[in-house]
Amino acid sequence: MGTIIVQGNLKQLLESLNRFKAVLMNREAYGWRVLQHDEDWVCATARDDVVCPLCRGFDGNVYRGDYVLNVFSYGTFISATVIKANTHQPNDPHCRCTLEWVDAEAKIAERIHDELMGAALSG
Ligand SMILES: [Zn+2]
Repeated sequence: MGTIIVQGNLKQLLESLNRFKAVLMNREAYGWRVLQHDEDWVCATARDDVVCPLCRGFDGNVYRGDYVLNVFSYGTFISATVIKANTHQPNDPHCRCTLEWVDAEAKIAERIHDELMGAALSG
């Protein structure tokens, strides 16, 4: 991620800033589709003696966002960046495993930068 340079006369600068504003308002209103390919999600068990062998095998594994629900089909979001794995069944009462979106803030900043760069170049 780098710097976005906007050039032009005042009218062109105003147009660029309005395109940036539109990009940011759109993202504020709609966010992004969840679980995309550019995301990394790391699985973590409770790391104690009670963790089952199946879950133990997932501990520390990293999955692309669009692949998470292929592996953890009963997974449910407990926040925007954390999923309860529910490895064995829906609402799994025993599974304490989670998947956490790695460096979510940096990835979101990168996405916004890319969109603003696109808006800067589209004039
Ligand atoms: Zn588990």
